Amino acid sequence: MNSPRAYVEIDLTALASNINKLRSGSSAKFLAVVKANAYGHGLIPIARAAVGNGADYLGTALVSEAIAIRDAGINSKILAWLISPGDEIEPALQKNIELSTGSLEVLKEIENVGVKLGITPVIHIEVDTGMSRGGFLDQWEELLKYLPSAKVKVIGLWSHFARADEPDRPETKQQIEKFAKYEKELLEIGITPEFTHLSNSAGILGFKEAHRSIIRGGIGMYGLSPDYQNLGSENSLGLKPVMKIYGKLALVKKVRAGSQVGYGGIKTLERDSILGVVALGYSDGLFRASQPTVGGNFKGSFAPLVGRISMDQCVVDLTDCPPANSGEYICMLGEEYCMAQDWAQAANTINYEIVTRVPPRLPRIIK
Ligand SMILES: *Cc1c(COP(=O)(O)O)cnc(C)c1O
Repeated sequence: MNSPRAYVEIDLTALASNINKLRSGSSAKFLAVVKANAYGHGLIPIARAAVGNGADYLGTALVSEAIAIRDAGINSKILAWLISPGDEIEPALQKNIELSTGSLEVLKEIENVGVKLGITPVIHIEVDTGMSRGGFLDQWEELLKYLPSAKVKVIGLWSHFARADEPDRPETKQQIEKFAKYEKELLEIGITPEFTHLSNSAGILGFKEAHRSIIRGGIGMYGLSPDYQNLGSENSLGLKPVMKIYGKLALVKKVRAGSQVGYGGIKTLERDSILGVVALGYSDGLFRASQPTVGGNFKGSFAPLVGRISMDQCVVDLTDCPPANSGEYICMLGEEYCMAQDWAQAANTINYEIVTRVPPRLPRIIK
């Protein structure tokens, strides 16, 4: 009877509920963002479940991610938006993947591959409305001259919000206005994209006027809040976390007061303690920088981290928990005391980074 030393549990019922929540009251199509191994949740099962629960589009950053989705037999509309010169455009066009571009260089490369294959590429034009990351900005006028004769079909015009998680700031409204200006100029040269889109999860939740024809749901679809401070917890937003991580207690033992725990001996036990060695470490995505304000949830009780997190293991304090035996599992992510937000706070980062860094080596178990 083997059992994994640690595993990621994926709750597809929660995923479906989150999709419904994000799209409720919106007539826009829903694009499920599945980049970066579906934010660490597992690309193919999440892509398949999202489409099965009504997502109209899948969105990836990389072309290779979009190709992997096609190769798994998923036939929905797919948009890949981070295209650099020299990327694998040929298989993307052959597999009916829509590509985004924010530069003339990439636009021309896509066009040339299309001509070679006898395929009209379907593209989304990205415009920079104030984030100064991707999207047309200085080449916009040149694009307007070039586009009418380009051998591509422009199906989308889109942009991305920089600060939609801060509803009280003026930048998002300014981005919405700039977007409308780009749209108008595109219409003036006779190009009417079927879709316009600019809302991420924070935009979906906070800026209904910016839903346009597609909303792009990432972190919210995984049941996490885009910003605790300004938008509130996932609970208050009606979202349900999709990911939990369990690790096996490799060893449970009594350790005397005064003992130092782990590399660097950064923790000296103040009392006789029951410690659990959990088979999960920083190579599994746990941030080594985490403070002991976080830890595991063992049968409903808090088991705080003790000492430094090692590569494949960490130590938790089980003294105040129900009796534990080696071989039992402890939840290390996704329950009270160990929500992604708790880990994020403990490591001075954001919940996005906590889930996204969980590596493929941990098995994903679909619930
Ligand atoms: C990652 C990403 C999203 C999703 O953002 P969330 O904040 O996770 O909802 C949407 N659009 C683009 C272009 C992205 O890169």
